[in-house]
Amino acid sequence: MLYILDTSSILSGIFFEGRKATTPGVIGEIKPGGHSWRLLEFMRNSGLEIISPPEEALGEVKKAAKRTGDYANLSEVDMEVIALAYYKKGLLLTDDYSMQNVARELGLDYKGIMEEGIKEKFYWIYRCRNCGKIFEEFYEECPVCGGVLKRIRKVK
Ligand SMILES: [Zn+2]
Repeated sequence: MLYILDTSSILSGIFFEGRKATTPGVIGEIKPGGHSWRLLEFMRNSGLEIISPPEEALGEVKKAAKRTGDYANLSEVDMEVIALAYYKKGLLLTDDYSMQNVARELGLDYKGIMEEGIKEKFYWIYRCRNCGKIFEEFYEECPVCGGVLKRIRKVK
């Protein structure tokens, strides 16, 4: 199973175990330096691939989006993400109804992030609010800097 993550999937803070990929456009939407960026770095370190879908795949997505009437509701980045799911035959993770609609039109598998989160077993990892380091187990304070740890749901 290859998960295809849109921007909101990454910002959800849910860690999807297994193969996962996103597009360069999604990376461009995440502000460098903030904690979303650290989460992104953590996901990249644990195998998040960044792949540009081919033009033909993007063309198919645009045609499908025009058929369903979702074209105006979708950004270039949204369509790039759908095109990657189409190209890689991955499971698209998004809560965006227009993206889901176009995925359905193309016969792709998709899931809402929350739905996926509820169905799958999950456990917690912990991220320091101060330095951004991530730990598998809870500590009263960050072993690196003494900061407060925040819980993050991690999907198995
Ligand atoms: Zn810390």
